[in-house]
Amino acid sequence: MTLEQSVLEAIEKNQDRLFEILKTLIRFPTENPPGKEAPAQEWISERLKTVTDKVDVFEVLPGRSNVVGVVNGAGGGRSVILNGHVDVVEAKKREAWEHDPFDPIEKEGFIYGRGASDMKSAMAGYLYVLETLKKAGIGLKGDVIFQSVVGEEEAEPGTRMAAERYPADFAIVGEGTRARQIVASVGTMTVKITIKSPYTLHLHARRQAIHAGGGLEGANAIEKMALKIIPALNDLEREWSVFKKYRGIPPGQTLINPFLIRGGDDAGYLPDECSMYAVVVYLPDEAPDKVKQEVEEQIHRAANLDGWLRKHPPQIEWNPQDQHWAFPASDLDVDHPGVQQLGKIIEDVAGCQAEYGGRGGITDAGWFPINGTPAVVYGPGDVFYAHRIDERVRKEDVLLFAKVIGLFLLRWCEVVE
Ligand SMILES: [Zn+2]
Repeated sequence: MTLEQSVLEAIEKNQDRLFEILKTLIRFPTENPPGKEAPAQEWISERLKTVTDKVDVFEVLPGRSNVVGVVNGAGGGRSVILNGHVDVVEAKKREAWEHDPFDPIEKEGFIYGRGASDMKSAMAGYLYVLETLKKAGIGLKGDVIFQSVVGEEEAEPGTRMAAERYPADFAIVGEGTRARQIVASVGTMTVKITIKSPYTLHLHARRQAIHAGGGLEGANAIEKMALKIIPALNDLEREWSVFKKYRGIPPGQTLINPFLIRGGDDAGYLPDECSMYAVVVYLPDEAPDKVKQEVEEQIHRAANLDGWLRKHPPQIEWNPQDQHWAFPASDLDVDHPGVQQLGKIIEDVAGCQAEYGGRGGITDAGWFPINGTPAVVYGPGDVFYAHRIDERVRKEDVLLFAKVIGLFLLRWCEVVE
């Protein structure tokens, strides 16, 4: 039997252990908000002490730390990051769940619980594989860097900090792709648009300012936003949905979604200021600056068609501090040796064609390339079940993922003879 065969056999044979780790992780209610990851992170760091050479715990936000475990390579091999977030979205409408979301159960080949798909199954897979290799006494030439990060669900800087601190030759972000697909993910930015009038006009001035024959220069900032700027952004979003494409991402995923608007306060005045925030989603192969330019041009075009806005153009701010929802995109270079190797292993182990594409949802993968580490999204969860009532994951997908990761470490990092 080859070494690879014996590793696959060990992963198969001890699979109860894999599912036990997954259930243990689900039992930690790491809901974010508020971000109660600490007890789970403590448990993970204890596990890592037994299977890695170095455990690095560093604070991301007060009381909330990333945990990184490094298995030192003997040298001469390529390094890899196995990244995942330990936080989960809130289990709202708990009464609608068939079972307690934090007391996992097994049914018809699935494991149920909050985080089963997103993404404690990947975390369990990573930990199980590290344990399996350790038990088998297999040494690798390249470093394996396991990262359990906090704060993904609320766009907090868990992975951002981990990616800066640990560059590597390749990174796998274990968000759900059903263990058969390797994908890129979209990027997001936030834009804040502010319309501001230099005049504060009393209600009685509305007739002269807005209606015929008044001759008074003034405007209702709420109306300008609602009637001129938002429709223009809607038009741009529709246009993008027709022309922008990326393999595996459904058309129309290039969203411009207004999510917060503030303006006005007193019935006796014309609101002289209105601010609106929108999330802008862009494709993996788009340059963010180019997307920003398209949005800005559209806003300026709309403003130029309006007599008042022409004189008082809207102010535009990207990724403002108070509503900072920015994830860089990650693109997929199918020719990259890491991607090739991962795809080949999926085909060997799953006996099906590996799929290469994009994911319409945001992930942490984009933080790696900006730090020089090529990254892909690949994990056992199913996006369909993520964030849902009765979240679940297929056991066969979790096992397949563990096998693929096991072989990937052997081939990518190379075994010490
Ligand atoms: Zn996730």
